[in-house]
Amino acid sequence: MRDRKAGNGMDCTTAERKISLFLAGELDERDTEEFVGHIEQCGACMEELAIQYLISEGMHRLEDGGAFDLNKELKEMLLWTKKRVRRQKRLDLVLFCAEIAAVAGSFLLSFFVLY
Ligand SMILES: [Zn+2]
Repeated sequence: MRDRKAGNGMDCTTAERKISLFLAGELDERDTEEFVGHIEQCGACMEELAIQYLISEGMHRLEDGGAFDLNKELKEMLLWTKKRVRRQKRLDLVLFCAEIAAVAGSFLLSFFVLY
C-alpha cells in the first residue's frame, strides 16, 4: 500500500526518501525517530529498507568474503537505533528539568536579593 500514513505521521514517500540517509547515518534525531516509527508499522517500507540495506552492506561484505546474516544485523541495528533515540529523549528531559530548576533557582535568588 502506498502513501498510507502509519503511526506518527511520516508517509511512505517520505520514509522511502529517507532510507538511504538513514543507512548513511545522516538523519537527525527527530527524523530517525519518525523514520524508525514508520518502518516498524509499515511492511512495505521495512522491506524497502531491508533491500537497500542488503544491497549496500552486502556489497562490502562480499568483498570481505566473510559469512554474515544481514537480516539479523538490520534488526539489531534498528533495535539499537530505537534504544539510542529513547536514551537521547531521556537526556533531553533531564536537561530540560535542569534548565527549569536553574531558571527557578535564579528567579528565587533575585526575588530574595531584590526584596
Ligand atoms: Zn511506509
